[in-house]
Amino acid sequence: RPVYLNGEWCDTETARVSVFDRGYLFGDGVYEVIPAFAGRLFGLDEHMARLSRSLEAIGMAEPLGRDEWQAIFDRLLAGIDAPDAAIYLQVTRGAPAKRDHAWPGNDVPAGVMATVSPIGSIAGGARVITCPDARWARCDIKSINLLPNTMARQQAAEQGCDEAVLVRDGLVMEGAATNLFAVIGGRLVTAPTGPRLLAGITRGLLLDLVHREQLIEAEESFITVSALREADEVFLTSSTKDLWPVVEIDGEPVGSGAHAGRAGPITRRLDHHFQALKHPQRSS
Ligand code: PLP
Repeated sequence: RPVYLNGEWCDTETARVSVFDRGYLFGDGVYEVIPAFAGRLFGLDEHMARLSRSLEAIGMAEPLGRDEWQAIFDRLLAGIDAPDAAIYLQVTRGAPAKRDHAWPGNDVPAGVMATVSPIGSIAGGARVITCPDARWARCDIKSINLLPNTMARQQAAEQGCDEAVLVRDGLVMEGAATNLFAVIGGRLVTAPTGPRLLAGITRGLLLDLVHREQLIEAEESFITVSALREADEVFLTSSTKDLWPVVEIDGEPVGSGAHAGRAGPITRRLDHHFQALKHPQRSS
């Protein structure tokens, strides 16, 4: 698999970064995951805009121009033999020779890496746990500091679950690596963007789609954990998982009646529309 690293192309075995890279020492960097479906990048403008916002938020200049990124993405996608793939890119504040919390001067070049991997299909609904949100106050920055996220996801994995839903002051923020939507009383609800969660691209594209095609009334507001437990339907979103139905929360099935513990009808309908957005050539 090809790896782009600081202006060069390597493979997974030879790609090496400096031990002084600030990404390695401090987690001083940001990243993106951009999906490509049937070989076509999906939500590219939105991902690049979020990368710019993340870089600006941590006081870093754009390391590459849009054409340079595009050339890297083209070469990565040409090197992978899978219909659906995810490009992972990260930008760190580079490798000065001295470890110092304060930022080095602008003469230190950024550390830039990009690679690609296949997106596998997901079998079945997600079983999730709820857990306290131990993250910082700038979750809107797509920072490579993911220790609290990895700890939450590990806690879920140890309980045989797929995702951890992060709860702050009794309110549902998002998953460890996903945004969360609930269907409550016929309305679609998801947490509003702000410093406490990541503005997911899938989340945004889905909300746009729902408004444009008037699929369901949607509301951006926080819900409590108890409202989450009572929700008719719940699903997660991310660039590599699309809409992922949640079938179980803390061991209890989601929803009631015929759909209890299964993907609900609204989730399935929204997913159907989302698939058409991902694959416009199939539906036209
Ligand atoms: N929330 C968090 C904390 C994430 O890490 C991610 C993606 O990795 C998401 C939400 C989903 O974002 P996107 O739809 O842009 O993939």
